[in-house]
Amino acid sequence: MSEPCIFCAIVAGAAPSHRVAETDLAVAFMDIFPVSEGHTLVVPKAHSTNIFEIDDASVQAVAALARRTAHALGELRRPDGMAIYQANGRAAGQTVFHYHVHLIPRMEGEAMTFQGRARAEDTPLAETARALAERLPD
Ligand code: AMP
Ligand code: ZN
Repeated sequence: MSEPCIFCAIVAGAAPSHRVAETDLAVAFMDIFPVSEGHTLVVPKAHSTNIFEIDDASVQAVAALARRTAHALGELRRPDGMAIYQANGRAAGQTVFHYHVHLIPRMEGEAMTFQGRARAEDTPLAETARALAERLPD
């Protein structure tokens, strides 16, 4: 890796994050520029840039943690829908080059956007992370 990777730093605990959950191979934490309240990211612990690099074990671990986090988000926010997506390459909208899955609760009538405009406050992010962790199913 030529440049330092912010998600590797978050996984290692060297950069701050509002962590929701952790498994052997994956970590879920709050997106700090949320598209909607509850916007969560799930990443593999091992660095890979995108779908073309990641191995089966990591991609499966991310999917499994994303599924559990989606249940917790559904229970907490009761959204009308949930967008779950993952971008590969700049042309697809990827801005952080460590594989990650977005979980974005959606309400009927809200405009669909992919990038949050404002940095969220840490206190509510921490509260949401804690509330999600409490609701995470096995
Ligand atoms: P993408 O555009 O699909 O690569 O998504 C990258 C996401 O990472 C964006 O939604 C950013 O808001 C989010 N992000 C960037 N830096 C951080 C960080 N330090 N902690 C949490 N989320 C971040
Ligand atoms: Zn990384």
